Amino acid sequence: MKKILEIQDLRVSYHTYAGEVQSVRGVSFSIEKGETLAIVGESGCGKSVTAKTIMGLVMTPPGEIKEGSQVIYRDKNILEQSEKEWEKYRGAKCSMIFQDALTALNPTMNIGKQIMENITNHYNVSKKDAKEQAEKMLELVGIPDPALCLKKYPHELSGGMRQRVMIAIALSGKPEVLIADEPTTALDVTIQAQIIDLMKDIQKKLGTTILLITHDLGVVANIADRIVVMYSGKVMEKGTCEEIFFGHRHPYTWALLNAAPSLELERKQQLFSIEGTPPDLIHPPKGCPFAERCKYCMSICTEVEPPEYAFEDGHKACCWLYHPQSEYREIDFSKEEL
Ligand code: SF4
Repeated sequence: MKKILEIQDLRVSYHTYAGEVQSVRGVSFSIEKGETLAIVGESGCGKSVTAKTIMGLVMTPPGEIKEGSQVIYRDKNILEQSEKEWEKYRGAKCSMIFQDALTALNPTMNIGKQIMENITNHYNVSKKDAKEQAEKMLELVGIPDPALCLKKYPHELSGGMRQRVMIAIALSGKPEVLIADEPTTALDVTIQAQIIDLMKDIQKKLGTTILLITHDLGVVANIADRIVVMYSGKVMEKGTCEEIFFGHRHPYTWALLNAAPSLELERKQQLFSIEGTPPDLIHPPKGCPFAERCKYCMSICTEVEPPEYAFEDGHKACCWLYHPQSEYREIDFSKEEL
């Protein structure tokens, strides 16, 4: 498959009163045309900052995109493009669905105007055509009476409907890449399932590439082709959905998967949690960022950052366990005790 976006050595910091928060620290991965790539990890691991950088939404200052960072789209590092070029790119090449539709939608404009605005910003169409397209978009995302919905304001819709409207706005510019930042977090489980099915359906119909940002492993298992696991501003492991769920190689991925509640748990059995807290990104550790919480930590882990080790296909993990001299080289996480 053809790469549509390539992120290379992305480093983003925020300058605060307390000091420089190194939110994203050398992240590299690529997204292939038509696939769904999920970025998973705990809150504060840098997944949303990565997505915002791809959309050109990092405010500088207080943000700073470090020199050498690259986001390649159509053979061009878009981090170097002008504000005018960003305006053409945002919405028409790459769109974003935000976490909370109620705060992301404009409360003073009706739904019709909000969708039409995105269409007329990018395409030279008449008001009548824009309205027709807006109605079609609402129909595509499963809104029962699109013509009536165009006249409504965000507060008049339910949470699930608002999220569908957000998806319609994001798709109205016909983007090649759709970034969904925790699209189901604010919704209840039944609506979550509907939104995930809708995204799958849209991808089938339009061939849109999806970058999904989430901490919900259930959502990921349902929709992702490949997964990038992030921790502390870095990529810990990346691979196909099957490799990450059934053949993970990184102790953090193993801990993260075990921390997800399962139906197989005995009654009153305690849920597994990862002890400790993520490191302070104002003073990140010099070795592996997971060292303090890792039960396999070796002396080298706290001193030197682990390199990336490659396994079958594109499956990769940053961990010293796979050094040729490591005693754990043949570790099988499916047999490991919690
Ligand atoms: Fe654990 Fe060391 Fe691997 Fe980090 S590099 S995850 S501390 S074994």
